[in-house]
Amino acid sequence: MKGFVITAPNEYAYQDFPDPVISDDEVLIKSRASGICHSDYELISGQYIIPFTYPVIPGHEWSGEVVDVGRNVTRFKAGDRVVGECVIGCGACPICQSGNFTNCPTSDHFGFTINGAHAEYLKAKPEWLHKLPDAVSYKQGALIEPFSVAYHAIVANGGTDASEVVAVLGGGPIGQAAVAAASGMGARVVLIEPLAHRQEIGKKLGATTVVDPTSADAVEVVKEMTGGFGADLVIESAGVDASLASAFNLPRNNGRISFVGINIGKVIPVELGKIQARGLQVKGMVGSPYVWERCIAFLAHSGKDISPIVTHEFKLDEVEDAFTLASKRSECIKVMVFND
Ligand SMILES: [Zn+2]
Ligand SMILES: [Zn+2]
Repeated sequence: MKGFVITAPNEYAYQDFPDPVISDDEVLIKSRASGICHSDYELISGQYIIPFTYPVIPGHEWSGEVVDVGRNVTRFKAGDRVVGECVIGCGACPICQSGNFTNCPTSDHFGFTINGAHAEYLKAKPEWLHKLPDAVSYKQGALIEPFSVAYHAIVANGGTDASEVVAVLGGGPIGQAAVAAASGMGARVVLIEPLAHRQEIGKKLGATTVVDPTSADAVEVVKEMTGGFGADLVIESAGVDASLASAFNLPRNNGRISFVGINIGKVIPVELGKIQARGLQVKGMVGSPYVWERCIAFLAHSGKDISPIVTHEFKLDEVEDAFTLASKRSECIKVMVFND
């Protein structure tokens, strides 16, 4: 088969690669849609949050069609439309046993330590997979991984409903998904994002208000919407220094903050005393444990179409061009490759 193969730091090509061979306990899948993620570039650069080896095929935001199953696999059959989880915990350690397997210290990451979906075919274990209903397209299916992170950032920090105002920092894929999820749950949503094209997508996905933090005071806008109190829930999905710091200024007293934006190794001045003084409930999260089935049902029944998050589409054999475009983050939101 052909796939997007990284062989060494900064060395990659769409090239021939051995076909995946399944065991009795595995599922062979034809990749149908696969989103390019910022973290794919970490594999290209040679640095990722957990150890990995080359050669590797990235691609952890995907949907596909089952073509063959091992003889012990009973839950799936050829023709099933599926999506697969990215973070795979060991299942046995105290972290996994407590239900937060995405923080397992010995976890595997599909598309990082296991070959992923930027290829014609991939293989997976059935326990990582979920069936996709007909109401959810392959394009939407390949967005379930980022959507699930946003959905989890809401439901694992108190949930939300029409009584609340949710402030979302950053209009990248996770932030846009958070707008769709929170507004789909009924909340009024403020998207804080400087780029006009990202603001427009945010409005399409359900943002009540958009704020450019470089020209307006987001704290004041949120206060005006909430009788001076502040946001009930803040989702930090930008990961940039100013956004991380401002997250502490947006919630009401006793409000909640979910941190899902990635920022590794930076030291950022923040008034941490506010956490105590204002009784803030602050949570950091990796991945989206135990919410995938809920996310699929939500997308199938909420009427929310998250496909506008995909701003650029390529064929699989154009994947190198797709990577070139997706590296220019200010020009796109999600770049996706399709294998028909
Ligand atoms: Zn990703
Ligand atoms: Zn574990």
